Amino acid sequence: MMQANRGKRVHIIATGGTIAGVGEAGFTGGYQPGVLSIGRLVEGLPTVEQVADVTGEQFASLNSDDITQAHWLAIVNRIQALWESGRYDGFVITHGTDTLEESAYFFHLTVKCPAPVVLTGAMRPATATSADGPLNLLQSIALAASDQARGHGVLVAFNEGIYSARDVRKGNSFRTHAITGGDMGTLGIMRDLSPVFYHRSLKKHTLDTEFDVRGMERLPDVAVASFHVDARSEIVDYLAGTHQALVIEGAGDGQVSRSWEERMRYWAAKGLPIVRATRVPDGSVYRGAGMPDDEMGTVAAGTLSPEKARVLLMLALTRTKDPGQIQAMFDRY
Ligand code: ASP
Repeated sequence: MMQANRGKRVHIIATGGTIAGVGEAGFTGGYQPGVLSIGRLVEGLPTVEQVADVTGEQFASLNSDDITQAHWLAIVNRIQALWESGRYDGFVITHGTDTLEESAYFFHLTVKCPAPVVLTGAMRPATATSADGPLNLLQSIALAASDQARGHGVLVAFNEGIYSARDVRKGNSFRTHAITGGDMGTLGIMRDLSPVFYHRSLKKHTLDTEFDVRGMERLPDVAVASFHVDARSEIVDYLAGTHQALVIEGAGDGQVSRSWEERMRYWAAKGLPIVRATRVPDGSVYRGAGMPDDEMGTVAAGTLSPEKARVLLMLALTRTKDPGQIQAMFDRY
């Protein structure tokens, strides 16, 4: 029996998602997410007392497509207050998988707490045959209670893998191995209740970022413009005219048509920060590759997906509008 973390205090912030979903008994589809309380989910874990002293709160009961930046800001403030109370050794956030990667990266860049913060969710509702939520939740609690999880920033525990919030994404729309680190892989694995780490990200996070959103009520408005064959360049104009900055989800190396490039040059010259990312799930948009960033005044997203590039750009804009400084942040985080 695994006893190592007994006495550690882990607090769960529950936001809903499929992990709390309820549907027809035995089936994996056609369910309602975010129904069961965190109390009910923890009650369903017979070995939880061997792992940690667990408390929890029902922060929200949402499908994660309804998560907003207001939830992000409130959760960061909540974790900060809980950490400063001195009563907890680690935190778990239950979250729907659809937008988990965006929330995780936001917390990774903004939470100022050295204790582990672990996100998890599930692909099958709690009422399905072989629901994946119970093991994901139990292993997240074990990870949040562990000393090994410290120093990695925000983590995601899912399907027996441990992922950095920076690199994690949803890679399958319904199977239980839905969460992946893509090219960057896993940081480690969960074997029952024991985390085993093999890798560490060199990108800065949590205590080592310049982003402090405590007390902030609103983040800058950033849109993602998706390029595709025949995409009209008025899309760029519309989004540029209604937002403070843009992420361009280009093709390949982050490339777009000549008509889109012309509009990007126009808006960048007017001082609108523009980051080039790619719709290709793996690989990297290198500075100057595919398009002349120096000449255009644009920023290259590197390995960050368009959605994660948006998160970093929102935070970058709380510090600067200068494309050179924003590029340095994309290189650092
Ligand atoms: N639609 C759900 C959500 O993101 C899917 C899930 O939790 O896996 O809340």
